[in-house]
Amino acid sequence: MFENVKIVYHQGKQFIPDIKTAKVPGIFRGRPVISTEKVNETELVELCPVDAISVNPVTIDLGKCTFCGECARRFPNKIKFSTDYKISSNIREGLLINEGEDKPVEVNPEMVRNEIHSVFGRSLKLRQVSAGGDNSCEMELNAANNVQFDMSRFGIEFVASPRHADGIVITGPITENMAGPLQICYDAVPEPKIIVLVGTDAISGGIFGNSKAIDRSFLDKYQVDLYIPGNPAHPLTIINGLLDLTRKRKH
Ligand code: SF4
Repeated sequence: MFENVKIVYHQGKQFIPDIKTAKVPGIFRGRPVISTEKVNETELVELCPVDAISVNPVTIDLGKCTFCGECARRFPNKIKFSTDYKISSNIREGLLINEGEDKPVEVNPEMVRNEIHSVFGRSLKLRQVSAGGDNSCEMELNAANNVQFDMSRFGIEFVASPRHADGIVITGPITENMAGPLQICYDAVPEPKIIVLVGTDAISGGIFGNSKAIDRSFLDKYQVDLYIPGNPAHPLTIINGLLDLTRKRKH
């Protein structure tokens, strides 16, 4: 017993006390900051493996970016990745980072459906669907529920059955083979329900975007409530995004 108390004392706090202000290591690639310095824009656009960079103005689409860091390595004075992990948005255009702008990516509470605040503001149960995912975002979703990040302290948890869920969390680019099961799972979730996309593959298809083996028609039919970028998404990005969606108040 005394030995156990000694271990707990030396380990300190196991959980992150404040999920909104927690610090991540400097090597973490979060929200990019793009300067207005003039560079060879053709070279910049062409080096990106997933067409996440566009010009006039120079913009990085976090929904497409794989956070490989190549653009920052080749053009260090033009692009830097900050450690800002709060990069979720409920609007697809909110994931576009323009040159000369150093402002946070945010959930716009005015665009959040009323029932999300009123019904899911204190409790949110989610069913995860790995629609051709590579298990990276799935692992980070698992980590969001571990003892360190402890997402369940906010009443946000994963459930096994879609019948017990308030919404679905999709990872992966949505392969043809998973398009049907995804639809069945979504149909089984009772109303009102939400759709959350986690990771680059789910948001844009990522490196599989042009593959004939994916079928993203599901996303044409329904409104997506939250985009959580990352490749994979960090647990702090996931938790802060879900909290902002469900608890950030309208003005
Ligand atoms: S970090 Fe993102 S924007 Fe930059 S090259 Fe890689 S995928 Fe493209």
